[in-house]
Amino acid sequence: MRLAGKIALVTGGSRGIGKAIVWKLAREGAKVAFVYKASAESAEKMVSDLALDQREAIALQADVKSKKDAEATVEKVLEKWGKIDILVNNAGVIKDGLLATMPPENWAEVIETNLNSVYNFCHSAMRSMMSARYGRIINMSSVAANCGNPGQSNYAASKGGIEGFTRCLATEIARRGITVNAVAPGFIETDMTVAVRNAAGSEIEKHIPCRRLGQPDDIANAVAFLASDEASYITGHVLTVDGGLTLGGF
Ligand code: NAP
Repeated sequence: MRLAGKIALVTGGSRGIGKAIVWKLAREGAKVAFVYKASAESAEKMVSDLALDQREAIALQADVKSKKDAEATVEKVLEKWGKIDILVNNAGVIKDGLLATMPPENWAEVIETNLNSVYNFCHSAMRSMMSARYGRIINMSSVAANCGNPGQSNYAASKGGIEGFTRCLATEIARRGITVNAVAPGFIETDMTVAVRNAAGSEIEKHIPCRRLGQPDDIANAVAFLASDEASYITGHVLTVDGGLTLGGF
């Protein structure tokens, strides 16, 4: 168990990739607090399923767009467990559409949920990490940050912003024993991609050299590595986990 004794906070832990990350970190020995927005029932079920598996977790409702919610969430974790070793900024949304017809609320929703949230939680949690002189911050980007996908200007801007933020913050706090990295998933089978999967069917797999869609566990495994002591000399890095999708071999 690589994370025994560690305390982790994961945003967007109620479904999809975040849920797999919560399970993986917990199975590696961490106590895990995770944030959800609306999925109260599934979040509570996860907590009891984790308890049945002898893992300790708590679910906290918050809107990651709100700095106030981020501060309150961090405060609750610190009150309960006294520290935060690992912060995973995973919560995210898509609101795809061509820019010509994109309403300002769809631009704002994506930037605030995906990018402002990373500021909100890093800024709220880093003081305690700095005093402890230890921390692992992992931000969820996407291969979309570096692709020119039509209809994803808001999403690509949010993820590109995360990657720049990750590199800058990494240089600011490396000397305090805190690493800051990002993971850029390719095409992962979750609620977020259900519409594209329904529209494209098995065509997608033909564009992935590994010839399968990614699973949430593929991303959780990468996050657990970056959260571990084995990754203590890796910082400011964006780790692509996409089965070769963006290698351009097609
Ligand atoms: P998902 O299945 O749609 O789950 C999204 C999660 O984020 C849920 O737990 C949701 O909570 C939470 N969330 C959304 N808005 C929130 C808010 N305002 N406040 C608090 N929590 C909020 O998405 P996913 O596919 O697992 O994606 C997870 C991350 O990976 C995202 O950052 C996404 O951009 C990134 N990513 C995904 C893919 C992919 O192919 N799936 C590829 C690249 C990157 P509720 O359950 O309460 O709604």
